[in-house]
Amino acid sequence: MDADTDPIEIMGAEPAGRLGDVFDAATGRYFAPTPQPHYRDMLRQLYLAQAPGADAARFDAVWPRIWELTEYPHDPSQLVAILDTGVLAGHPLLRDCLHEVVDFTGEGGEDRNGHGTLVTLLARLMMPGVPRRKFVVLKCVGADGRGAQANLIRALGWMQAFNRRGTARIVTANISLGVYNRKWLVLGCDGTCALCRAAVETAKEIVLSVAAGNVAGKTACPARAAFLPSNPAILAVGRSDEATSGAGTVTGTVEPTERVIFQPKH
Ligand SMILES: [Zn+2]
Repeated sequence: MDADTDPIEIMGAEPAGRLGDVFDAATGRYFAPTPQPHYRDMLRQLYLAQAPGADAARFDAVWPRIWELTEYPHDPSQLVAILDTGVLAGHPLLRDCLHEVVDFTGEGGEDRNGHGTLVTLLARLMMPGVPRRKFVVLKCVGADGRGAQANLIRALGWMQAFNRRGTARIVTANISLGVYNRKWLVLGCDGTCALCRAAVETAKEIVLSVAAGNVAGKTACPARAAFLPSNPAILAVGRSDEATSGAGTVTGTVEPTERVIFQPKH
């Protein structure tokens, strides 16, 4: 086994792999996180600035269920990609927000892990108030939260091809996946592994937000590529108390707070 065959895994602060956090098969109920309180002012300002007929009192009344503010403008030409464990396409908060789901695992695009759906929900919750973008979900790891590096490399290439052929464009991509290549375990990858090179190429046209890793002070690939001086379009995202050194950007994470339950339709 060489370095390029080490599996990619889920990285980042979100809970890794609990389908029960987003769906209960026994009752058919879906769950969703609500936005954290400290995002309230930002989301409120965006709503007031951009939604037609925005009404501050209405925002305050529905908070934190901001998805009930359906008057947001929608921009169909700009898309957000989520590279993760797939998505529960029937989720009440997501079914209107999916542009396309592509499976690179052979398992089917449906999320059997839970992480991808949770990440998509968190991205959905941070989106109201600006022209709301639809998601392209690229499934790169399966139910066990692991996958081949080749899946992620193919997904990165797929996004570039997608942007070349259509009128809609992927403008940002969220990648909560990475690998600690054993070859680079001591010094850290210098940005020349196959995964980092693919990310650098993709970041020429798409802003990549990549989870930095699960180990303090150790940045996984392809987040490592963010710390090369020439890659401003790759953001390594991690907890600020685990900030890695280098030129890349380390931002705060979005974490679920209160959980909201959606009853099944009868
Ligand atoms: Zn690398």
